[in-house]
Amino acid sequence: MKLKVWGARGSIPAPGPETMIYGGNTSCIEVTLSDDSKLILDAGTGIRQLGMAMTAADQPVNILLTHLHMDHIQGFMFFGPVFSPESEITVWGPASPEASLRDRIARYISAPLAPVEVRELPSLLTFHEADALEWNIGPARVRAQAVNHRGPTLGYRIEDNGTVLTYIPDHEPGLGAPLASVEDEWISGFDLARDATLLVHDCQYTDTEYQNHLGWGHCPVSDALDFVRRTNPERVLLFHHDPLHSDDFLDGLGNDASTRWQELGGAADEILMAKERLELDLDQLPAPQAVGAAAGNGQRPRSRA
Ligand SMILES: [Zn+2]
Ligand SMILES: [Zn+2]
Repeated sequence: MKLKVWGARGSIPAPGPETMIYGGNTSCIEVTLSDDSKLILDAGTGIRQLGMAMTAADQPVNILLTHLHMDHIQGFMFFGPVFSPESEITVWGPASPEASLRDRIARYISAPLAPVEVRELPSLLTFHEADALEWNIGPARVRAQAVNHRGPTLGYRIEDNGTVLTYIPDHEPGLGAPLASVEDEWISGFDLARDATLLVHDCQYTDTEYQNHLGWGHCPVSDALDFVRRTNPERVLLFHHDPLHSDDFLDGLGNDASTRWQELGGAADEILMAKERLELDLDQLPAPQAVGAAAGNGQRPRSRA
């Protein structure tokens, strides 16, 4: 399984000279499965350039939406394949008692916010509510589960040929009770992330910033690391960067996360920062480096306590 990041930003696009390295586009990840078919995780603004890079061989298209906040759907109307009659596109996303997935997306793709209506899009578009569901897409087994965020939100676990990718871009698992005091089965997203090859996870705030953003639906560094410690993935890709965070700031945030992880006994290269256009082959990840000297016990920082 391979992954390419087309947008790693949260909340709103943040283009500009100060975000050239991590990128300004919002959530979108391209996943290439073992049979070379593609899955797309979220349709933030990054999906526009992904659409430009796709060919007829990439049909049919499956898009897994975690939720319908704008930073996860804003690129959909600018995703080229949507305007091709040859395209067959299936959109998966969370159910809501309020309205169907199609009707909720149509609130954005309709007047006065858009020049077209969903029914006018020439591609063959299908919408599926994916709540608490497990199903196959090509060679992959996909599991969707509700996670803690603002409004109906899913995380996804994608398993293909023994490799597991977990995607939880918007997540506040520590809201209400400190993660350290919660049993495994009560931690939001636990089963999705457990022992994954790669976990793509929210790390929007520093711990200090989080004090003013409790309940906003996102993770501070400490909770992201606690969630990793509890769920035991081989690698984590910290994702959903705050629009206020410049490249320099994110370098610092990444170094801080990595240092704290090593102090817990982990290896520096287990913690990765998501950057636009970053590509990872999950079947070819190098073995983690030696664990951090700070903890010195030779053990990875795992605890299910
Ligand atoms: Zn978001
Ligand atoms: Zn959100």
